[in-house]
Amino acid sequence: MEAKEINNGILCMANVKFACPKCKKVYSDDKEIYLNRCNKNANGCTKIKCDCGQLFYMTYNYKGDAVSFLP
Ligand SMILES: [Zn+2]
Repeated sequence: MEAKEINNGILCMANVKFACPKCKKVYSDDKEIYLNRCNKNANGCTKIKCDCGQLFYMTYNYKGDAVSFLP
């Protein structure tokens, strides 16, 4: 994906942080592990099981920011 594509000559860093909707634990996708998982899925989302036991999904919105949401 083009989350870090040069945009108008300025390197545009996407917000790679997202939080568990339940316990608010913050995840950082700085190694693009989740991004790659999203790209492999047809729906563009990836499922995450948090340490607190909550299942949630995350994806990247049109601005390239990581967002989390419940199923
Ligand atoms: Zn959690």
